[in-house]
Amino acid sequence: MDSIDLLVLGGGESGTGAALLAHALGWKVAVSDGGSIQQLHKKELQDRGIAYEENGHNWTKNYSGLTVKSPGIPSASSVVTELKEAGAELISEIEWASRHTRGDIVAITGSNGKTTTTSMTHAIFRCAGMDVCMAGNIGNSMARELAETDSAHWVLEVSSFQLDDICSFRPRVAAILNITADHLDRYGHSLQAYADAKMRIAMNQEDDDLLILPDFDPVVNEALKRTPLRSHIVRFSDDPLQGPASEGAGLNEDQHIRIQLQNREPMELFDLSLPGRHNMYNSMASAIAARYLEVREESIRNALSNFERLPHRLESILSINGVEYINDSKATNVNSTQFALESMSRQTIWIAGGVDKGNDYQELVPIAKEKVKALVCLGKDNDRLIASFKDSIDLIAETDSMQAAVHTAFSIAKKGEAVLLSPACASFDLFESFEDRGQQFVNFVRQL
Ligand code: ADP
Repeated sequence: MDSIDLLVLGGGESGTGAALLAHALGWKVAVSDGGSIQQLHKKELQDRGIAYEENGHNWTKNYSGLTVKSPGIPSASSVVTELKEAGAELISEIEWASRHTRGDIVAITGSNGKTTTTSMTHAIFRCAGMDVCMAGNIGNSMARELAETDSAHWVLEVSSFQLDDICSFRPRVAAILNITADHLDRYGHSLQAYADAKMRIAMNQEDDDLLILPDFDPVVNEALKRTPLRSHIVRFSDDPLQGPASEGAGLNEDQHIRIQLQNREPMELFDLSLPGRHNMYNSMASAIAARYLEVREESIRNALSNFERLPHRLESILSINGVEYINDSKATNVNSTQFALESMSRQTIWIAGGVDKGNDYQELVPIAKEKVKALVCLGKDNDRLIASFKDSIDLIAETDSMQAAVHTAFSIAKKGEAVLLSPACASFDLFESFEDRGQQFVNFVRQL
């Protein structure tokens, strides 16, 4: 396969997107997938006459040209090693796509809050009437969108896997929302390696590019010490800003958010539509990004006051007999569940469990003591969950289906309390995805 200009490894969303962009640019491209390619993607490739192979990599043999690697393919896989040995240049889909845009890129990463913050930033730009496209992990790949048309602004949700294979990707604005233990299986169980992968988002930034960071995150702060960067760094926190000349986002005496950037009028934010401290941080990050790109204060405020909650993220479903049911199925790690429990204003029946990625539940014990009346375990293996909370939560029940979990929670909950699904775990033992888990919760709650 040496007569092609580009080889794409993997025929999923990002791989197909990468191939569509290559085709739109007039490049000769082929797709190689070790597994099967979904019918939908095959049709898109066929319609354009793009060659593909599936269930094995034959075209990769002795190929030494430019290759776009899909984020799902581990860097240690044999096909990647083989290509590297042959001298192929391997890049990720965002690296590939970003080489072909004239627009400004706002790139958002972090362990939690990426989708929410990406959507908020997009909503602000839309509210300001700007030409903007949202892409990346959140939906369509950037390459797919770019194959249709370029935009003046791109708001991208970026995972650490996408960042592993960048070389010139240079976002005008980058944000790292937080870094907590997640996906460590892909990084040799090293939090440091995972953090360093996230820092790569800023590695090509120059001094007039902006990097938005949490002021309070020890893992980010440590990673920053190890990483030489040229970026202009602005931080957010819930402390007051240090003085009129300091930059960043913080809280003033009225608990309003204050944002101060060089060469911009300071602004205040209040009446945010999404509750919780984590959403305040997400709002701060998106507002700093927008302010830096000269979006008017009024548009930022309007967008964040009217922003609609995304499904499966602390989503209040309904109240039955004075009990509120909340779907936070997207909470797939301990940190996101910690914020969910913190934001509860009622005594809570907490449904948790699933595929445990080596969770340390000890961090949740104090907040569980304060807020949780009963724990309903929902997983194939609940032993670690039970061992962690048996001394701090009086009532613990075990279930192995969403229906049983919802019925158990219903029988325990009293007026004025809440039932919260916030699993702190991935969903793949009993469900297809976090969406399936959340939707089943909503369906069984509606049937109560
Ligand atoms: P991601 O795209 O990074 O997975 P989401 O915006 O989909 O993030 O949110 C995932 C989960 O994390 C939800 O349960 C949500 O309530 C919680 N969450 C959102 N923002 C934050 C944050 N800044 N810090 C911690 N948890 C958060």
